[in-house]
Amino acid sequence: MTGGSSACAIWSSGLSGKNVRRNRRKKVMFWTEDAEELLGAVPAFVRERIREKAEVRARGEQRTQIDAAFVQSMQTGSRHPVEKFPAPCISVDPIHDAFDRKYGVHAGMSGGAAVTGNPVEHFFQCLEDSVDSEAPAMAYLHVPFCCTRCLFCGFYAETTEPTAIAGYTDAVVRDIELTGAGLRNTGRKLSAVYFGGGTPTDLQASELEKLIRTIRRELPLTTDCEITVEGRLYDFTDEKVAAALDAGANRFSFGVQSFDTGIRRMMGRVLGREELIERLNRIVELGDPYHAAVVIDLIYGLPGQREAEWIDSIDCGVNETGIHGLDLYQINLLPATPLMKKLNALPSMATLKQQADLFLAGRSRMLEHGFDRLTIAHWGRDARERNRYNLWNKLNVDCIPLGAGAGGRWNGSRFFQQSDVHRFSTSVTEGLKPVISASKDPACASVMASATGQIEQRRIDVRELEKVAGMSLRETLFPLLDTWKKAGLIEDQDDIRLTPAGEFWSVNLQKLIGLKLMEIAG
Ligand code: SF4
Repeated sequence: MTGGSSACAIWSSGLSGKNVRRNRRKKVMFWTEDAEELLGAVPAFVRERIREKAEVRARGEQRTQIDAAFVQSMQTGSRHPVEKFPAPCISVDPIHDAFDRKYGVHAGMSGGAAVTGNPVEHFFQCLEDSVDSEAPAMAYLHVPFCCTRCLFCGFYAETTEPTAIAGYTDAVVRDIELTGAGLRNTGRKLSAVYFGGGTPTDLQASELEKLIRTIRRELPLTTDCEITVEGRLYDFTDEKVAAALDAGANRFSFGVQSFDTGIRRMMGRVLGREELIERLNRIVELGDPYHAAVVIDLIYGLPGQREAEWIDSIDCGVNETGIHGLDLYQINLLPATPLMKKLNALPSMATLKQQADLFLAGRSRMLEHGFDRLTIAHWGRDARERNRYNLWNKLNVDCIPLGAGAGGRWNGSRFFQQSDVHRFSTSVTEGLKPVISASKDPACASVMASATGQIEQRRIDVRELEKVAGMSLRETLFPLLDTWKKAGLIEDQDDIRLTPAGEFWSVNLQKLIGLKLMEIAG
């Protein structure tokens, strides 16, 4: 047994003892020997945080001493009670019956502590503290405008009134400039930049060009940096495509959702099937000299969509266009969207069990088409599609936030920028990076991100997770993995692989493994 493994055993063993010694750090609080022993058994990277939490709570309860029972009691009352996220059922039909619901759209990361000081200073301090780090890094630039309104859309989207956008573009240029100096001092380079929204393709050609050129001028980028512009095909004219490519974009990601014209119109999309095919092929052609990748999203579970239409949309994207990548996403019913309000007036949507069937059908079709599986949802036709930003986002890679409402993370902290466009502009005009909040990642963030990333790639490698955590995890994770195996969600091959059912329920597996890791971290 390794030292780390025995540490786990002690942490959960319920030791008690009577020897008391005075804590050197806090004169007024006594830690019993068994409490110190428990604390000493947890990984060093969370030890001090647990000590502080225990002492704050003990003082609140008018205690003068901390014993093992008290330390262990802190493990109850988790922010994410396990009862809210039950383990899978053992069933002969796991893709339909392992769980009764999805535990979210993304596994997410919670449990971090808010930074109480100035968030802007903290942001630049984090940049400074990461000098010469070898870790990869990227940037996300948010364009909070869209001139259409799709039924299912829950993304923050303002008007596309031209003067508002022109002013916004200039403000983002200033934001990039304000960030550039701090970033350049770190010696780090960005390997991916993602323009998301909203709809960045609603920007004018000159605005797109200005933003991309400013990024390339002000921020240190690797020579193979992936620069993605997200958006929709409607109104993404040849002029805009050419401007983006000339400026340096090398990847376009379009929300197509379905090639069925009837379903598209019902969802508020403008272009019909033939126009979509024509535009996609034109953009592939324009991007070819630049080796630009063109990828699209398709959604299963839309109102009125049945398996035949779903497969037809996949076939259409693969056979009738030259796209380099394809994302297959499950419909996400967001509470405040027009889709939720109109649900009763629309053709019926697939139930969760039927969505599982659509997932399986789409998966089989993509395997038949011979596409590479880059992640559970993402498929690539060839090496041109790297999917770098999307995967790294799940892996918690450092990411610079740019633009109103952008989120990012750097060197163990998370940041959010002012989302009000007017206040955002005022801030950058005054020379202030518009970061309005910052929080520290939970102590187990790295290992949680690794676990999420592994599951995203349909595998689980406990040894790799142990390396990231710096301790043995098998006593904690093996019982969990045994349950998943019995439930038909994972299987042993050369290593642990997700079954097709495990892929469908991957977000639940990410949530459950994340909760386990948070339990260890306290
Ligand atoms: S085009 Fe995109 S941002 Fe605009 S409403 Fe549709 S889904 Fe939302």
